[in-house]
Amino acid sequence: MECSICVHTSKTKKIIDYNGKKICIDCLTMLKYPPNFEKMKEEVENILYNLKKGNKKYHCILAFSGGKDSVLSLKLLVEKFKLNPLCVMVDNKYIANEAIENALNVTKHYNVDLVILNRDFTNLFEDAIKRGESPCRRCSRLILRDVWRVAKLLNIKYIVTGHELPFGHSAIRDMKEGIKMIRLLTPYKFKEEEKYKMLKDLPWKKPNLGGYTTNCLVLGLALNRFFEKYGFSFEINRIATLVRLGLLSKEKGKKLLEKPEVPEEVYEELRKRGLKI
Ligand SMILES: [Zn+2]
Repeated sequence: MECSICVHTSKTKKIIDYNGKKICIDCLTMLKYPPNFEKMKEEVENILYNLKKGNKKYHCILAFSGGKDSVLSLKLLVEKFKLNPLCVMVDNKYIANEAIENALNVTKHYNVDLVILNRDFTNLFEDAIKRGESPCRRCSRLILRDVWRVAKLLNIKYIVTGHELPFGHSAIRDMKEGIKMIRLLTPYKFKEEEKYKMLKDLPWKKPNLGGYTTNCLVLGLALNRFFEKYGFSFEINRIATLVRLGLLSKEKGKKLLEKPEVPEEVYEELRKRGLKI
């Protein structure tokens, strides 16, 4: 049984009958408590338009991965809000070379500063892959912790990220010690095609990595291992939410939930960087 709104099936979410329609319980929640994107936009823009009034060197930190969403966020910060962010990239040893090149090229294009912190997440990834589980949550938590430390050190109050899904009903979340995180792309609900169009005039090239990513070398492999264990993608909830909110068509969503083809070069690169697979 399949949800008539998103891409969940009874294998991944409870499906119920709602006014004669089959929908999943997450879609039911959205219908009952629809997120207010206009309000989110107001909150986000209210902060960002006011930041430029300060005379700080860096108005905010941008958690930067070189992937399309963080590059698009940089474009908005500079072009729309006229801000000077400090881009902080955490290289966990498994970022695609193309993504690092993209990061260097785009920050140079905008003449903004980029800090790259070198880390080694080999153990985290090996552990997750061995168990057939998703490494994403732990990886992003560690990255965010590093970015937060830089914000704290430089006394910068806002960390902007390129996430597109809200924290429940807001695009802003309080972090420790008065620092706030802003999911910049959330209020705008850009569709995939729109994003690529907006990046067209920038020195940014899409790498072919397998899975829904433009920077991570590990995702495709991790998705494959999870697939072998559970028979579906660990990205199901995120993709389902994108479809539910209208950011992705159902058809494309389903395609992204298939077991990804990972190019052999990606596996070679993973081994070269020290991952035992
Ligand atoms: Zn649904």
